[in-house]
Amino acid sequence: MHLRLLIDGRSSTFTHLLADRETREAVLIDPVFEQAARDAALVRELGLKLLYTLETHVHADHVTGARRLREALGSKIALAEAAGASGADLLLREGDSIHFGGCALSVLSTPGHTDGCLSFVTRERDHVFTGDALMIRAAGRTDFQSGDARRLYRSVHEKLFALPDGCVVHPAHDYAGRTISTIGEERAHNPRLGGQSSEDDFAGYMANLALPHPNQIDVAVPANLRCGEPKGAMPPLGAEWGPALRSFAGVLEVAPAWLSEHLGEVCLLDVREPAEWNGELGHIASALPIPLGELRARLGELAPDRPVIAVCHSGARSAQASLILEQNGFAKSANLSGGMLAWRALGMPVVSTSR
Ligand code: FE
Repeated sequence: MHLRLLIDGRSSTFTHLLADRETREAVLIDPVFEQAARDAALVRELGLKLLYTLETHVHADHVTGARRLREALGSKIALAEAAGASGADLLLREGDSIHFGGCALSVLSTPGHTDGCLSFVTRERDHVFTGDALMIRAAGRTDFQSGDARRLYRSVHEKLFALPDGCVVHPAHDYAGRTISTIGEERAHNPRLGGQSSEDDFAGYMANLALPHPNQIDVAVPANLRCGEPKGAMPPLGAEWGPALRSFAGVLEVAPAWLSEHLGEVCLLDVREPAEWNGELGHIASALPIPLGELRARLGELAPDRPVIAVCHSGARSAQASLILEQNGFAKSANLSGGMLAWRALGMPVVSTSR
């Protein structure tokens, strides 16, 4: 099984991508709205088919990316029936299983942080995704969204601490740079829930946390009760001006086939060195040659009103060029994916004085 941790820096949310290596079927646990393009790019680049987005609960600190990903990738939205949300495709209960290829997650109901908190355990019981029920040396707060410290204590002790010692714990957040733990470790060392801590000890601890009100809660909870549907229009995953998609590396890219149909509408920027211009691969007739090293000084030569598409030998130097363009306010700019090599591979016309 592929297992990837993705982090949203603003909310410290952990999104987990799980995929079956054979069938490439995948699920994404707790996606974040603003990170949908990142998550979709990784799914695309790894050649995965995203079957489901799974929510561990209705979050108060970020909006889920579930709807954006459903629109872009056709994934189904799954969360707890007890969450009371609208717009889901699958309502989950204790004992349900989610299958992707030969992998499966079973659903544990672990309420207490919220009414509808779920944990997801692999079939082998070697990984558990605990949301905000059990966190690394911590536990989710219980002072809003129907939170109940005693209920959370019982969820953790009866369900999560019943898992094997070596089962790896993946929480939905960490605020101290930690990423994983194990059930045995938390049972021994969790200062709120582990060791000899009783239900009364835990309730007393949680009643005196005195945490500030989450600043996203008034936006996040209503949006998450609609599975991440925004108030206005759904923002596109890629560029507004065309079918440019952001790679997992963060570069906006267009495909050679798109460029071939829109050559007349773009400013094509060839950032290779002069010797390559008429070299083996030739150049595209309408391209403007500005070597990458001169680009920052010659940005004024580019058409500011048309999309600027950067091209090089393989798409590597031009990726850097497209980042320079974005940093310098060229809102419509992208890299030609695969560069001249991909362009030539499609049999597209070039100019070259060397042949
Ligand atoms: Fe939470």
